[in-house]
Amino acid sequence: MSAARELLARYLRQRHELGEDTLFLETLTRGEAIALASGRRPRLRAAAAGAAPAEETAAPPRSDTAPAASTPELERVRAEALACTRCRLHEGRRMVVFGEGSASAEVVVIGEAPGAEEDRTGRPFVGRAGKMLDLLLLTAGFPRETVFICNVLKCRPPNNRDPLPDEVATCTSAFLHPQLEAIAPRVLLAVGKFAAQALLRSEDPIGRLRGRVHAYRGTPLIVTYHPAFLLRSPHMSRTAWEDLQLVRRVFDEQT
Ligand code: URA
Repeated sequence: MSAARELLARYLRQRHELGEDTLFLETLTRGEAIALASGRRPRLRAAAAGAAPAEETAAPPRSDTAPAASTPELERVRAEALACTRCRLHEGRRMVVFGEGSASAEVVVIGEAPGAEEDRTGRPFVGRAGKMLDLLLLTAGFPRETVFICNVLKCRPPNNRDPLPDEVATCTSAFLHPQLEAIAPRVLLAVGKFAAQALLRSEDPIGRLRGRVHAYRGTPLIVTYHPAFLLRSPHMSRTAWEDLQLVRRVFDEQT
């Protein structure tokens, strides 16, 4: 099967798993859907503010060297996280969810905190929100296995409550910042307000932060809605899709 057909098959399988058979295609034009099906990157409609013309072919992330599964520095940070007792969250966790992906990933996605399924498995974004995230990434030509996925918090807050400011401060300085420094990606994608605000040191609402390119310590950072929010608000999928297209464009410009 060609790469493009395989991509489409995965896209359709994931839509089916989400139980949202019309989630994306209903908001895409026929031309965009055909472009997606043929493995090309769909062009944004004029409504996408500031949209630069997309290239015709979706190149997967590439690297001049074989991807490094991990590095000593990333493993050092991981080992410290796995043993962490810095805040109250260690008391209720089952597993520390450090993140997963290659240490030489060129795109890093940062979410909020592990949920129940992530706490049980030790892997980020494996529940329904994770499937939604996989799907979004796929529409921009970034299959999950090509990116590194992590969260602001490495331990699950009780009953999935919002992260508290001291938890965010502790976990970002101890683990998220060193983790991002060790990976040194080309582009960052923050999903949801907690990741966006923590990385940008901003209190602006997500609606104001999304749709443009920020810089996190010199690395381009794009913000979009949290996939769990998108599952509750499918009419926002189109907007999130545009944010992912922005990630794609910024990524390609860096190549
Ligand atoms: N939501 C997140 O923000 N992160 C996960 O890993 C899972 C759900």
